[in-house]
Amino acid sequence: MESKNRMGRPKCLRKVSEVPGINYFKPRGIPLTELEGVELKVEELEAMKLVYYDREKREQAAKRMGVSRRTMERELKSGLSKVIEALLYGKAIEIRGGYYVSDDEMVFRCLNDKHEWKAEKSMRKPRECPECSSKKIKVREE
Ligand SMILES: [Zn+2]
Repeated sequence: MESKNRMGRPKCLRKVSEVPGINYFKPRGIPLTELEGVELKVEELEAMKLVYYDREKREQAAKRMGVSRRTMERELKSGLSKVIEALLYGKAIEIRGGYYVSDDEMVFRCLNDKHEWKAEKSMRKPRECPECSSKKIKVREE
């Protein structure tokens, strides 16, 4: 069974250096019942941060996130368009979800079904794949 595409998930977890502590922004003076929002993915914010805040070259930003330049640019564009939409039309911004791994986590990969999952670095190495129970797992190389 192909588990990696089951929920339309991207193949590679995006590496993210910063997960913001505050994850909800709301325009002043609009009651919650009338408020619309956009959901900004953590990796979209990371792409915007690397390119426009840290001023990384796009090639380098993609490398840091562990994805292709094309994938990074896709996150970048989609993040920007959400932020602009929120600013122009007074929408809330919620930073959540996505498919990423932060600095204190590591990614394991099952050699049997290519399933990838993340776990905190402080945790013990898992014994088997949570999807297929195969013991052939390894740490995803950077
Ligand atoms: Zn597996």
